[in-house]
Order: sequence, then C-alpha cells, then structure tokens
Amino acid sequence: MADTDNFWEESLTEQEGCLLQPFVTNLDRSVFGLRNLPEVVKGALFSRYSRSDKGLRRILLDEFIKAPEADFTRIVGEVANNNVDQLVAIQQAEAFYDRVLIGYGDDSVAELGGAHIACEGISNIAAKALEDSRLGISPLEKSTRYVPFNRKINGRYRYYREPSIMASSHAERYESTLDHLFDTYTALISPLLSWVQACTLRDTTTSERAYNSATRAKTLDLLRGLLPMATLTNVGLFGNGRAFEYMLVKLAASTHKEVRALGLSMQQELDQMIPSFVKRAKTDRGHQYARYLSTNRHHTELLTQELLGQLKSASTSIVQLVEYDSAAENKIVAAILYPHTNLKFEQIKEYVTSLSTPAKVDIINTYIGERVSRFHRPGRAFEETYYTFDVLADLGAYRDLHRHRVLTQERQNYSVHHGYVVPQELEEARLVEPYKKALESAAETNDLISKDLPDAAQYVVPFAYKVRWRMKLNLREVYHFVELRSSRQGHPSYRAIAQEMYQQVRAVHPSLVANMHFVDLNNYALERLTAEQRIDIKLKQQNQK
Ligand SMILES: Cc1cc2nc3c(=O)[nH]c(=O)nc-3n(C[C@H](O)[C@H](O)[C@H](O)COP(=O)(O)OP(=O)(O)OC[C@H]3O[C@@H](n4cnc5c(N)ncnc54)[C@H](O)[C@@H]3O)c2cc1C
Repeated sequence: MADTDNFWEESLTEQEGCLLQPFVTNLDRSVFGLRNLPEVVKGALFSRYSRSDKGLRRILLDEFIKAPEADFTRIVGEVANNNVDQLVAIQQAEAFYDRVLIGYGDDSVAELGGAHIACEGISNIAAKALEDSRLGISPLEKSTRYVPFNRKINGRYRYYREPSIMASSHAERYESTLDHLFDTYTALISPLLSWVQACTLRDTTTSERAYNSATRAKTLDLLRGLLPMATLTNVGLFGNGRAFEYMLVKLAASTHKEVRALGLSMQQELDQMIPSFVKRAKTDRGHQYARYLSTNRHHTELLTQELLGQLKSASTSIVQLVEYDSAAENKIVAAILYPHTNLKFEQIKEYVTSLSTPAKVDIINTYIGERVSRFHRPGRAFEETYYTFDVLADLGAYRDLHRHRVLTQERQNYSVHHGYVVPQELEEARLVEPYKKALESAAETNDLISKDLPDAAQYVVPFAYKVRWRMKLNLREVYHFVELRSSRQGHPSYRAIAQEMYQQVRAVHPSLVANMHFVDLNNYALERLTAEQRIDIKLKQQNQK
C-alpha cells in the first residue's frame, strides 16, 4: 500500500510516465484506475494479473504500448491524447447526471456505468475484503499457482507489515515469523519440483512447455500453505458504480486499518472515473451506513461471546450437509411444470404429490435434456431448493471457493485454532519437517499477538490453517459449483470439498443429481497437465494461421 512502509514498487522512466499517463488515473500510487482504453484491452490487462508478477502499468507498457505486434496506437486511436478534455468531460457528465438523478431518484442508474480499478501490493486480508462482493463486481487476482510469491524488494519479502503490530513489542517476532515462512517456501520450491518431476516423468506426447508448466503449478500448489494472509498480491476489479459505492461503505466498516485505507484510496481514484456513482460513500449518509455496519457487527460479536463463549468447538469432517429440504423433489418438479400452465403454484404442487417417483424422474430428465457439457446448466426450477454446508478446510481452499459470488458464504475469523493441513506429497517427498516447523512457529506468533491485537494477528495465519465457513446454495448452483470445482485442473484441496458436497447431496437427493454428469471423482498426479496440453494445441493452431 502506498501509505506505509509496506513497500510497493513502480519504477517508471519519465518517458514511460508520459506514455502511460493518458491511460491511468495516477502514475505513482498502488491504487489506480484505467481510462481511455477500449473495454477489451482493459479486460485483457486484468486477465494478465493472474499469471504475472508485474504491476498493471508495467504490463500495459511492456505488453501493449511498447509491443509492436499489439499495434496499440491503432487500437486506442487519438482518443487518449488530451487528458484535460477527459476530466472536463467527466465534470460535465457529473452535472448532467445529478440533474437526471434528481428527476428520477433511481439508484439503479448507477449500475449503468462502470470502472476498472487496480489494487496492487495489498494483503490477502484486503484482497478477500474486495472479493467479498456479489452483484456487480468482477475481480481478478494474482494466482498462487502460476506466480511464485518469494520475490524480494530491497532485500525484503513482500508481505504486509501491519502498522499496529509494527508499532508494538511484537514487531520483531512478526517479521521473523513471516520471513521464516517465506524462507521455507523459497527453500522448498526447487527440491519439491525435482520430486514432482521424478514422480511424473514426461511422456513423448507431452511437450516440454506443457510438462514444465504443469509440474511447476503442482509445486506451487503444494507449497501455498506456507503463505500467510499478510502476503501481498494484486487484484483488478471491474464493477458498476452502485456496487463500488456499496463496496466503499463496507471497506470503511472493516476492523482492519489496511482495508479502511484501501477504501479511501479507491474512492480517490473512482472519483476521477465515475464520481457521481460513488460520491454518497463519502457523504454523511455513507459514513452513517459504515457506522451502522461496524456497530452492529461489534454488538453481535459481544452478544455471541456472552452466549457461546464457554462452548468448545466440536471437530467435524471437512464438509457437513447441515440442512436440506425433504420436499425438494416435489418443489422442483412443480417449478419445472409451472411456466407451461396457467395454474396456481399450489395446485401444481398438489398434483405433483400424487405422482410416482418414476413419473417425477421422467419430468426432471425431460427438463434437463441431454447435457453435453457442464455449460449446459439446468434452469431456474433448480433454484427451488437449498442446501447448507458447514465447511472446515484450509484457507487456501476457502480463498478459491469464496470467489463464487452467487452463493451465500460467511466465514469465521482467520485463526490457527483448527490446525493445519499437510499435503500428502510433502510427506512422500520427505520435505514435511521444515513445512510443519514454519507453520507451528506461525501459530505461536499468532497466539502471542492475538492476546493484544486480535484483528491484526490474523495477518500471520498461513493458508495451510483451517477456517470454518458456511455455504448456502441452491441446486442450480450445486451443479455449477460441483462440476467446475471437481474438474481435473482444480486444486486438490477444493476438489475434495466439491466431491464431498456431491456425495452428500446424492445421498439425500439421488434423483436431483442424477444428471450431474460432469462431476469428476478421480484423483490426478498432475492436475494441470491436460489443460496445458490443450494450450499446446491452441498455440499450434495459432502458429498455423
Ligand atoms: C481452475 C481455476 C483457476 C482459477 N484461477 C484464477 C486466477 O488465477 N485468478 C483469479 O482471480 N481467479 C481464478 N479463478 C476463479 C474464477 O475466475 C472465478 O472467479 C470462480 O471460479 C467463480 O466462478 P464463477 O464466476 O463461474 O462463479 P459464481 O460467482 O458463483 O457465478 C456463477 C455464474 O453466474 C454468472 N455470473 C456471476 N457473476 C457474473 C457477472 N458479474 N457477470 C456475468 N455473469 C456472472 C456466471 O455465469 C457464473 O458462472 C480460477 C478458477 C478455477 C476453477
């Protein structure tokens, strides 16, 4: 972040600054917006976040502006040449918008304009806060699978040096613990990669490129458990004005100083792009809303402590189906028939109860038809029933699954209380000892800091530690979620969760998941391999053009 000694780098020459200036809202801060670029270029730029260690401005320069093959000038034309015009235009548009809004008073107008904003050098705590959005926000984040997180700047690993910890007596311990985690991560990459490659030799049908990418991805997947929540990352967001305004209010209500500061930085940049749509976040109304959220959360937390503080956490399996609807099948069959009649829903439900099970299955099968890919999703009738799961899994898996915006998901605090997971492969490679040692030292430091600074102590928690969270989703989402997240290329820790969810729903509602043809219950040695082989085919086709 720009505000602290939590370094963030962007070294641009004067000439580079001149080239970039028309396209970004600032040249020297870690939060900035994109402007004067075609939508497709903004999308392409953000997609690079997942596989690059570079900042977005550097990617824009190296891979678009300066790359002759990108033909950048032709793409953007002359539109970006006068920055002043752009600002004047925004001011004029704002005045016009305000007049329109007075006339209509309709909040949804603010959904009609959007912005691309880059947040660089933010911790995983902040990244999760940004991604905890549902309607209207599309995030993209640097991947722990494709990018190693051990590059140093000025001799220091890139993790958030939380100001209240750094001002306390825990500062030295905090840094030595996090350095130990990153040192261990760094030291294990090479021996683990050799082990992975020795276990899965390249066959003649696999290119060297595909093989190296797949084995490297596997290695980084296995080691991500060492990365703490303080790890700095980059997140790009595209969102509409209304969603950004709500996000700014939520960020302002956070218990984390970093997250509140990030909200203020974002406001500053959004004010340059879609000021009218986000301005209420900084008015009394916005401040009052943020206070409302934080006060209620605080009071609820106190009440919960009072009511449940003495109870001990019961250990559970990683996935537990805690609630489902015993009348699900009837409701879904009724919902399938509903749009095709003029009868009341009640009447149809009554009729359905008189049907035999085979008759109901027949209706379901007709509705779903022949699914030839997982993209053939069942329709809205499948939203008629919900499942609630209690999940206890490593933070790495939570970080991934949390990205499903349509579900209801709520987690408990990041902590070390539930222990950590150790990938079986680390045991087999005999590399588990340094891994465990670094994680256990993190737990001790977390315990120590928690006594004084419980919110800040969460930055120490590594991704291998477990977190408990609640997932509520309807059957239509179960299809999408399970089929996507069990697919071969996924990370094994969330694949196991998706597979388990499938098994538990199948146990209670076999007829409803009988058409879930694309759930993958196998285990693989190299998850990424087939995906990399597909990339090879695409590259070959492109070269032949
Ligand atoms: C193998 C794998 C690798 C990944 N790697 C990365 C990575 O490197 N970096 C990264 O940031 N993310 C990564 N992701 C996360 C991915 O980008 C999605 O955010 C995540 O899978 C959630 O999927 P979803 O959007 O389909 O689900 P949901 O958010 O649950 O949405 C369900 C469906 O609703 C529709 N929908 C939801 N929101 C919108 C919207 N705003 N506009 C239009 N349609 C919408 C879509 O049809 C979507 O499929 C990865 C995911 C997988 C499976």
